[in-house]
Amino acid sequence: MKFITDVMLGRLAKWLRIMGYDTLYYNNISDKNIIDIALTENRALLTKDKGICLIKTVKDTVFYVKSEVLENQILEVANYYKLDILKHAFKRCIRCNIPLEDYKIDDTMHTTYKTCPMCKRLYWRGSHVECMLKTLQDLSSQIRHD
Ligand SMILES: [Zn+2]
Repeated sequence: MKFITDVMLGRLAKWLRIMGYDTLYYNNISDKNIIDIALTENRALLTKDKGICLIKTVKDTVFYVKSEVLENQILEVANYYKLDILKHAFKRCIRCNIPLEDYKIDDTMHTTYKTCPMCKRLYWRGSHVECMLKTLQDLSSQIRHD
């Protein structure tokens, strides 16, 4: 499942990346370009713009996000697309939207580090990750599994 979000859904885009889903987001892009990318790359288009939803060419790929609250936005999308929000979590760079690679400083290290091949940012399982994981676990328990 791949996504592109409109400019109003930057935080949702970031969280979809945290959940491991390939999600494009640009903070300065026209509706036309968003639609073009969604159609050519076969991405679900997440939007808060009802105008976009009315455009015929995107009717099969567009999803209107109702809530203004991030947690509820995640639940809306996860329920609609049947996402597993824990399975692939923390495997993608939040900035670059590409998969992380394992990073080893030496064999004695007990902490698992991952790194982004593009921006070289180092990811490790610190308290910030535990905090995000807690959020995802809470949300996961609210997802309908039918
Ligand atoms: Zn990166």
